[in-house]
Amino acid sequence: MIDEGYTKYECDWVQTPALPVDAVAELNAWRNRLHQQGLIGYYPEHGVGYGNVSIRVGDSDRFIISGTQTGHIEETDETHYGLVVRCDIGGNRVHCEGPVQASSEALTHAAIYALDPAIRAVVHVHDMALWHELMDRIPTTSRQISYGTPEMAIEFRRLYDETDFAARGIAVMGGHEEGIVSFGLDIEQAAQRVLQRRD
Ligand SMILES: [Zn+2]
Repeated sequence: MIDEGYTKYECDWVQTPALPVDAVAELNAWRNRLHQQGLIGYYPEHGVGYGNVSIRVGDSDRFIISGTQTGHIEETDETHYGLVVRCDIGGNRVHCEGPVQASSEALTHAAIYALDPAIRAVVHVHDMALWHELMDRIPTTSRQISYGTPEMAIEFRRLYDETDFAARGIAVMGGHEEGIVSFGLDIEQAAQRVLQRRD
Protein backbone atom coordinates (compact mmCIF):
# COMPACT_ATOMS: atom_id res chain seq x y z
CA MET A 1 0.00 0.00 0.00
CA ILE A 2 1.33 3.42 -0.91
CA ASP A 3 0.90 5.64 2.11
CA GLU A 4 3.17 8.42 0.89
CA GLY A 5 1.96 11.96 0.88
CA TYR A 6 -0.93 11.53 3.23
CA THR A 7 -0.21 13.92 6.05
CA LYS A 8 -0.23 12.09 9.34
CA TYR A 9 1.05 14.94 11.41
CA GLU A 10 -0.12 18.38 12.40
CA CYS A 11 1.98 20.97 10.60
CA ASP A 12 2.30 24.50 11.94
CA TRP A 13 3.56 26.32 8.88
CA VAL A 14 4.70 29.93 8.72
CA GLN A 15 5.03 30.99 5.09
CA THR A 16 8.31 32.86 4.54
CA PRO A 17 10.54 33.66 1.56
CA ALA A 18 12.89 31.00 0.17
CA LEU A 19 16.05 30.07 2.02
CA PRO A 20 19.33 31.51 0.66
CA VAL A 21 20.52 29.74 -2.51
CA ASP A 22 23.80 28.77 -0.85
CA ALA A 23 21.97 27.10 2.05
CA VAL A 24 20.30 24.53 -0.20
CA ALA A 25 22.57 24.32 -3.28
CA GLU A 26 24.39 21.08 -2.42
CA LEU A 27 21.28 19.46 -0.93
CA ASN A 28 19.32 20.36 -4.03
CA ALA A 29 22.00 19.01 -6.37
CA TRP A 30 21.82 15.61 -4.67
CA ARG A 31 18.03 15.72 -4.64
CA ASN A 32 18.01 16.26 -8.39
CA ARG A 33 20.46 13.42 -8.90
CA LEU A 34 18.25 11.08 -6.84
CA HIS A 35 15.25 12.26 -8.84
CA GLN A 36 17.01 11.45 -12.11
CA GLN A 37 17.49 7.92 -10.78
CA GLY A 38 13.80 7.62 -9.92
CA LEU A 39 14.59 7.33 -6.21
CA ILE A 40 12.62 10.52 -5.60
CA GLY A 41 9.58 11.02 -7.76
CA TYR A 42 5.84 10.89 -8.21
CA TYR A 43 3.17 8.20 -8.43
CA PRO A 44 0.76 9.49 -11.08
CA GLU A 45 -1.77 6.78 -10.25
CA HIS A 46 -1.91 7.96 -6.63
CA GLY A 47 -1.24 11.63 -7.26
CA VAL A 48 1.47 11.78 -4.57
CA GLY A 49 5.18 12.38 -4.49
CA TYR A 50 7.74 10.18 -2.75
CA GLY A 51 11.26 10.55 -1.40
CA ASN A 52 12.84 13.49 0.42
CA VAL A 53 16.19 14.82 1.59
CA SER A 54 17.33 17.00 4.47
CA ILE A 55 20.39 18.53 6.14
CA ARG A 56 20.88 19.62 9.74
CA VAL A 57 21.35 23.34 10.38
CA GLY A 58 24.56 23.90 12.36
CA ASP A 59 24.53 22.06 15.68
CA SER A 60 20.82 22.66 16.19
CA ASP A 61 17.84 20.32 16.05
CA ARG A 62 16.58 22.26 13.05
CA PHE A 63 16.88 20.94 9.53
CA ILE A 64 16.20 21.99 5.95
CA ILE A 65 14.00 19.48 4.09
CA SER A 66 12.46 19.19 0.64
CA GLY A 67 8.89 20.39 0.53
CA THR A 68 5.75 18.29 0.42
CA GLN A 69 4.38 17.50 -3.03
CA THR A 70 7.54 18.43 -4.92
CA GLY A 71 8.27 14.89 -6.18
CA HIS A 72 6.90 15.58 -9.67
CA ILE A 73 9.35 18.45 -10.27
CA GLU A 74 12.35 17.50 -12.43
CA GLU A 75 14.67 20.27 -11.28
CA THR A 76 13.89 21.86 -7.96
CA ASP A 77 15.50 24.99 -6.52
CA GLU A 78 15.62 26.88 -3.22
CA THR A 79 11.89 27.67 -3.42
CA HIS A 80 11.10 23.97 -2.87
CA TYR A 81 12.61 23.63 0.62
CA GLY A 82 11.36 24.34 4.10
CA LEU A 83 13.01 24.75 7.48
CA VAL A 84 11.79 22.49 10.28
CA VAL A 85 12.27 24.53 13.44
CA ARG A 86 10.79 22.12 15.95
CA CYS A 87 9.32 18.63 16.03
CA ASP A 88 7.19 16.94 18.63
CA ILE A 89 7.50 13.30 17.64
CA GLY A 90 5.26 12.04 20.43
CA GLY A 91 2.60 14.60 19.57
CA ASN A 92 2.95 14.10 15.80
CA ARG A 93 3.52 17.81 15.38
CA VAL A 94 5.92 19.71 13.10
CA HIS A 95 6.68 23.43 13.18
CA CYS A 96 8.11 24.62 9.89
CA GLU A 97 8.67 27.74 7.83
CA GLY A 98 9.53 28.49 4.23
CA PRO A 99 7.85 28.98 0.87
CA VAL A 100 6.50 25.40 0.99
CA GLN A 101 5.42 23.06 3.81
CA ALA A 102 7.93 20.48 4.96
CA SER A 103 7.70 16.98 3.54
CA SER A 104 5.09 14.80 5.22
CA GLU A 105 8.00 12.63 6.30
CA ALA A 106 9.67 15.35 8.40
CA LEU A 107 9.02 13.34 11.57
CA THR A 108 10.97 10.39 10.16
CA HIS A 109 13.90 12.71 9.49
CA ALA A 110 13.59 14.22 12.97
CA ALA A 111 13.70 10.74 14.50
CA ILE A 112 16.97 10.01 12.67
CA TYR A 113 18.60 13.30 13.70
CA ALA A 114 17.61 12.59 17.31
CA LEU A 115 19.73 9.41 17.27
CA ASP A 116 23.08 11.18 17.17
CA PRO A 117 24.33 14.78 16.84
CA ALA A 118 26.94 13.49 14.35
CA ILE A 119 24.17 12.78 11.84
CA ARG A 120 24.15 15.76 9.48
CA ALA A 121 21.99 14.60 6.57
CA VAL A 122 19.09 12.21 5.92
CA VAL A 123 17.86 10.70 2.66
CA HIS A 124 14.58 8.84 2.17
CA VAL A 125 13.94 7.17 -1.18
CA HIS A 126 11.62 4.65 -2.77
CA ASP A 127 12.79 1.69 -4.84
CA MET A 128 10.76 -1.50 -5.05
CA ALA A 129 13.62 -3.73 -6.28
CA LEU A 130 16.08 -2.46 -3.67
CA TRP A 131 13.44 -2.69 -0.94
CA HIS A 132 12.88 -6.38 -1.62
CA GLU A 133 16.58 -7.10 -2.12
CA LEU A 134 17.75 -5.47 1.10
CA MET A 135 14.82 -6.39 3.36
CA ASP A 136 16.15 -8.25 6.44
CA ARG A 137 19.64 -8.32 4.89
CA ILE A 138 20.39 -4.89 6.33
CA PRO A 139 18.76 -3.31 9.41
CA THR A 140 15.01 -3.34 8.76
CA THR A 141 12.24 -1.71 10.75
CA SER A 142 9.27 -3.80 11.81
CA ARG A 143 6.58 -4.36 9.18
CA GLN A 144 3.99 -3.41 11.80
CA ILE A 145 5.20 0.19 11.89
CA SER A 146 4.37 2.69 9.15
CA TYR A 147 6.26 5.89 8.55
CA GLY A 148 5.80 9.16 10.33
CA THR A 149 4.60 7.67 13.60
CA PRO A 150 6.03 7.95 17.12
CA GLU A 151 6.54 4.16 17.03
CA MET A 152 8.91 4.61 14.08
CA ALA A 153 11.16 6.86 16.17
CA ILE A 154 11.41 4.17 18.85
CA GLU A 155 12.12 1.56 16.19
CA PHE A 156 14.97 3.58 14.67
CA ARG A 157 16.47 3.90 18.16
CA ARG A 158 16.28 0.14 18.59
CA LEU A 159 18.05 -0.43 15.26
CA TYR A 160 20.69 2.19 16.06
CA ASP A 161 21.48 0.62 19.44
CA GLU A 162 21.11 -3.07 18.61
CA THR A 163 22.16 -3.51 14.96
CA ASP A 164 24.86 -2.15 12.65
CA PHE A 165 22.53 0.64 11.48
CA ALA A 166 24.87 3.18 13.11
CA ALA A 167 27.83 1.89 11.09
CA ARG A 168 26.06 1.25 7.78
CA GLY A 169 23.88 4.35 7.86
CA ILE A 170 21.13 2.70 5.83
CA ALA A 171 17.97 0.80 6.71
CA VAL A 172 14.89 -0.67 5.08
CA MET A 173 11.53 0.62 6.30
CA GLY A 174 9.76 -2.72 6.53
CA GLY A 175 6.29 -1.26 7.06
CA HIS A 176 6.60 1.41 4.36
CA GLU A 177 6.51 -0.15 0.90
CA GLU A 178 9.58 0.71 -1.21
CA GLY A 179 10.92 2.86 1.65
CA ILE A 180 14.65 3.10 2.40
CA VAL A 181 16.32 5.62 4.69
CA SER A 182 19.98 6.58 4.97
CA PHE A 183 22.00 9.16 6.86
CA GLY A 184 25.50 10.56 6.77
CA LEU A 185 28.05 13.07 7.96
CA ASP A 186 26.95 15.11 4.96
CA ILE A 187 24.39 14.87 2.18
CA GLU A 188 26.88 13.28 -0.23
CA GLN A 189 27.55 10.38 2.14
CA ALA A 190 23.86 9.89 2.85
CA ALA A 191 22.97 9.88 -0.86
CA GLN A 192 25.90 7.65 -1.85
CA ARG A 193 24.89 5.06 0.72
CA VAL A 194 21.75 4.54 -1.37
CA LEU A 195 23.27 5.05 -4.82
CA GLN A 196 26.07 2.54 -4.19
CA ARG A 197 23.45 -0.12 -3.53
CA ARG A 198 22.17 0.27 -7.07
CA ASP A 199 25.56 -0.21 -8.76
ZN1 LIG B 1 8.33 7.16 1.72
